[in-house]
Amino acid sequence: MRILIVEDDERLARNLMEALQAAGFVAEHEREGKAAWFRGEVEDYDAIILDLGLPGLDGLTILRRWREAGVKVPVLVLTARGDWTDRVTGIEAGADDYLPKPFQMEEVLARLRAILRRTAGQAAPVWAVGDIEIDAGRQQIKVAGNLIDFTPHEYRLVCYLAHKAGRPVSQSELLDHLYGDDSAYTTNSIEVLVGRVRRKLGAGRIETRRGYGYALAGGGAG
Ligand code: CA
Repeated sequence: MRILIVEDDERLARNLMEALQAAGFVAEHEREGKAAWFRGEVEDYDAIILDLGLPGLDGLTILRRWREAGVKVPVLVLTARGDWTDRVTGIEAGADDYLPKPFQMEEVLARLRAILRRTAGQAAPVWAVGDIEIDAGRQQIKVAGNLIDFTPHEYRLVCYLAHKAGRPVSQSELLDHLYGDDSAYTTNSIEVLVGRVRRKLGAGRIETRRGYGYALAGGGAG
């Protein structure tokens, strides 16, 4: 999952980056409002963490502009402590959730996972696709009831395919969402990764749709 953190407090941004990366997310950071607005419009993120007080352009204006432009990415808004007007305005502007500062990193991660689950149409804390169960809190995957050992990249691949619920995902989309800006990886890396995950998941669980990409079997009508 590829997450954009929009936060002008460098220390907080660094802590968020580290917490998200440790939890298996691809995290990117932007500190300036206009640049954040642009990135949210043209780049494809799975979720955005948005501070409201930003240099250049404030977070609420950015959020309104994204929603007016049809950008549907889930947004978790960071608000000043006790400022209920910010929370109300934020939700009305199209935020999916908010978190008052200061907060614990565990709470950011829990809320982020919850909005990602809701976006994927899953309410329970463990995602199930066919006989594959993903426990995002523990970063564990079970297949037919058996716990399988996955590397962080393999885990991200299964999560991303599960998140797309049967919609085929292209190699270039996977590159963006699994590896972010790291140019050391190519579509060839994706093929190798998919091959490894296929072997671990067992036959028939990742389908190749010619001309479209990969999809998790049993993940919906896609
Ligand atoms: Ca700020």
